[in-house]
Amino acid sequence: MKLDQIIKTFVVPSGKTISLKRDYDPAYTADYLNKEDAQKMLQDGIEQLAKYQDILYAQNTYAVLIIFQAMDAAGKDSTIKHVMSGINPQGCQVFSFKVPSAEELDHDYLWRYFKALPERGRIGIFNRSYYEEVLVVRVHPEILERQQLPSAAKGKGIWERRFDEINNFEKYLVSNGVIVLKFFLNLSKQEQKKRFLKRINQPEKNWKFSSSDVRERAYWDDYMAAYEDVFNHTSTKWAPWYVIPADHKWFTRLSVAAVIDRTLESLNLQYPTLSQEHRQELLEAKEMLESETGDAE
Ligand code: AMP
Ligand code: MG
Repeated sequence: MKLDQIIKTFVVPSGKTISLKRDYDPAYTADYLNKEDAQKMLQDGIEQLAKYQDILYAQNTYAVLIIFQAMDAAGKDSTIKHVMSGINPQGCQVFSFKVPSAEELDHDYLWRYFKALPERGRIGIFNRSYYEEVLVVRVHPEILERQQLPSAAKGKGIWERRFDEINNFEKYLVSNGVIVLKFFLNLSKQEQKKRFLKRINQPEKNWKFSSSDVRERAYWDDYMAAYEDVFNHTSTKWAPWYVIPADHKWFTRLSVAAVIDRTLESLNLQYPTLSQEHRQELLEAKEMLESETGDAE
């Protein structure tokens, strides 16, 4: 299978019920690919992405919102770092969402994400996102308690309601020119353990490790159940989820770059065409510059 076909198998089909365990292998790498070839392909993908981004920016019609969700140590940060490495910083922004502040808790749960949306022409990355509102908040009900909600809003059916709200929110974004791409970096529990141990054993990686990471790991099964429910309710035709194998970082990066490239390609982006008037202005400016006298060449 070619990479283009492989990435299609990572999409969670809308309206179907998936099981992470049965349908998605965290250790998958397309067997014909070796790491070296993949690195070359990633490089090409990054260059292609830079070209698309240039047109996206010039056209100033679409914005692209790229969401990354995953368990700790799945490679969100490093995927963002590598895949976006060719991009003009002027056309790109990254927001990493942490535990909400008191001000943020005083607003509706989409507020802080809404404020961070990319403007037209730009690629905006959410390192964690409003999906935490149906993940960590679901796994730890005490977080919901802190959200100051009226009792009707936090009662029975809350997660289905939030799924609907999120689907509607994304539909609104897409119909207004914001393309929404959602990546889940699918890491196995064993590989997480290996990466945590590396963070503990290598001094320059220590800063990445916090003891709460190990506490969260104890909720692994709850998280997987919450993620599955998210995919089964919020992978829509307008904003699909991609479940990306994450046990091999080189394959994760390659796949993410390929999905972004294919999505941008499908937009058929075009540099803006000049109006007759604007073209005339350019010609006049050219004449003026060329007829200048007295300047050293
Ligand atoms: P990290 O991304 O590893 O720096 O950690 C950020 C932490 O913030 C994680 O433990 C998340 O679970 C937590 N977090 C992110 N968004 C929310 C949210 N909406 N409510 C509660 N905790 C959150
Ligand atoms: Mg962390």
